[in-house]
Amino acid sequence: MSNCDNCASKGSCGSVGGSCSKLFPRYGSVKNIIGVISGKGGVGKSTITGIAALELVKEGYRVGVLDADITGPSMPRFFGINEKRANIIQGQKENEVQFEPVLSKSGIKVMSLNLLTEEEEQPVLWRGPVINGVLNQMFSDTLWGELDYLLIDMPPGTGDVALTVMQSFPLSSLVIVSTPQDMVSMIVKKVVIMAQKLNVPILGVVENMSYVQCSSCDEKIRLFSRKSAEEQAEYLGLPLLEEMPVDIELTESLEAGEVERYIFNTMKYKNIIGKLV
Ligand code: ADP
Repeated sequence: MSNCDNCASKGSCGSVGGSCSKLFPRYGSVKNIIGVISGKGGVGKSTITGIAALELVKEGYRVGVLDADITGPSMPRFFGINEKRANIIQGQKENEVQFEPVLSKSGIKVMSLNLLTEEEEQPVLWRGPVINGVLNQMFSDTLWGELDYLLIDMPPGTGDVALTVMQSFPLSSLVIVSTPQDMVSMIVKKVVIMAQKLNVPILGVVENMSYVQCSSCDEKIRLFSRKSAEEQAEYLGLPLLEEMPVDIELTESLEAGEVERYIFNTMKYKNIIGKLV
């Protein structure tokens, strides 16, 4: 895909002085930019972003992850790189800086505000416009290099930052993450309608924490709703990409900083990227 494919001003997009309203990475070229979004926090959006990134690496793609959940960044923790810090390189011109992404063990290029601040617990006490400015800069001024996929872990809901990402970033598509709870689906539906209004294509929905697999039988024990993941997806009017169980091995591997090894050794999540590639 050309970076201008989704641009409203395709004709002049990318040209010097062109009128494209989209931002582009300045230092590199990215073939596909996929946003991962949910209605509410805590449903597993960052976890799905991380798993999808790892599944893409398993298939041999070059992958980056931008943590756009500025007030609740969790991608560095997911990849176990939260102790590391991204280098900030002074450019040749005044006020020009470049951010060097931190590499995960499997070579995923990660950029997050938490990799740029001194301590990961430091809260961000900024209002919307400042947050948007920082996010725009992290997107365009990171040294992404050549990437097949850049996954963006978006903030939940239909707020200011999500709107900026959908309007200003040249997204190829969105993946929606939900859980089988009516309250969550109702809010997710708002995100779906927002994306449709802004003409951002949606690949489908991942239903997370759908069930617990019985350890001694085939039964899928549904925790929140007897409705099937297909029914929930139908309510949202979206294809179902994957139905994810509550996975204790995943949680344990995250706690042990071994999530990459875990995902590389399991076939459980390969369907997540079925529609991405
Ligand atoms: P969000 O990005 O939507 O706020 P997270 O991805 O940070 O949510 O997930 C919230 C918590 O739930 C994290 O501690 C994560 O490890 C856990 N979690 C997410 N999905 C699963 C799952 N399928 N099985 C077990 N734990 C999960």
